[in-house]
Amino acid sequence: MTAPGEGGPLADTFGRVHRDLRISLTDRCSLRCTYCMPEQGNEWLARQSILTLDEIVRVARVAAAAGITTFRLTGGEPLLRRDIVDVVRELAAIESPDGPVQIAMTTNGIRLPDVLPALIDAGLKRVNISIDTLDREKFAALTRRDRLDDVLEAIAAASASGLRPLKLNAVAMRGVNDDELADLVAFAMEHGAQMRFIEQMPLDAGHTWDRSAMVTREEIVGALAARWTLTPVPGRGGAPAERWTIDGGPHTVGVIASVTAPFCGDCDRLRLTADGQLRNCLFSETEYDLVPILRADGTDADVDRMLRSCVHGKLAGHAIDDPSFLQPARGMNAIGG
Ligand code: SAM
Ligand code: SF4
Repeated sequence: MTAPGEGGPLADTFGRVHRDLRISLTDRCSLRCTYCMPEQGNEWLARQSILTLDEIVRVARVAAAAGITTFRLTGGEPLLRRDIVDVVRELAAIESPDGPVQIAMTTNGIRLPDVLPALIDAGLKRVNISIDTLDREKFAALTRRDRLDDVLEAIAAASASGLRPLKLNAVAMRGVNDDELADLVAFAMEHGAQMRFIEQMPLDAGHTWDRSAMVTREEIVGALAARWTLTPVPGRGGAPAERWTIDGGPHTVGVIASVTAPFCGDCDRLRLTADGQLRNCLFSETEYDLVPILRADGTDADVDRMLRSCVHGKLAGHAIDDPSFLQPARGMNAIGG
């Protein structure tokens, strides 16, 4: 294997150029979704290990100079971060060689109506809101919190704000929400949003993933095709979701088939955990620790080298469906979804 180069785009050994950095702002959350976190006994990251605003912005500046054009804020729940508006404002002010960077967020929506105007003013461009069910009891069982109304309010606020594309994410689960897939799509269309279904991945902190409970891409498409005519949208590029128009458009629906049809060959994403670890894949077993650089006397050139090492170490794919697959030690909330 060749050594990571200096300067130029963040290309890995397979030629994939990295443009997207997912920044996890916290591992804490206002919900406890069964597929992500245990109900109790989660081991939280130590507070002093969480990157500060200045540390995040420093990494982001170096990443943008190296060709990252989109920062997606995630977690845990990014809106639990008290300085969330400042995070968005400072990141949105960063210029990459290709122009201003884009700031997007993935959120469960709780607290969103209160802060959305300030976030948009600070430069937030896109938001994805997670909603797995429209049924209040199911929502409470699935997230272990009775907060469906808050999420519905968030979706209404995001829809009214005009931020587009507005995307709604649901993890499809057998016996939980697989009877609601078409209803979720209809709900998204009513809100000018694109529904996206995600195949459940083995990323729950409780290590309870069971392949047979996962609803596959094929099943999702089959269930939707019973109500609508779906036509594939060409030109997916590096996007994780495969999309279809609904009854000829303009509405579309997406499926993120990370397990049965992984899109690793086109992956352009890197991740920064809330405690300063760079990861080149959700499923990687290696982390690249920025903390000694950020908290001792490391230079921006050291941060850049670490980014390039991380990209250089990226494997061809994650092989979730392979019997030899090993689930990462961290749960989804601590990696950053
Ligand atoms: N708390 C925010 C939220 O729920 O949108 C952001 C973080 S969450 C980890 C990001 C996304 O990951 C959500 O859409 C969630 O549904 C998805 N997710 C979490 N655990 C998952 C799993 N085991 N398989 C597939 N998707 C998962
Ligand atoms: Fe929280 Fe998002 Fe994980 Fe649900 S999926 S527990 S909302 S971090």
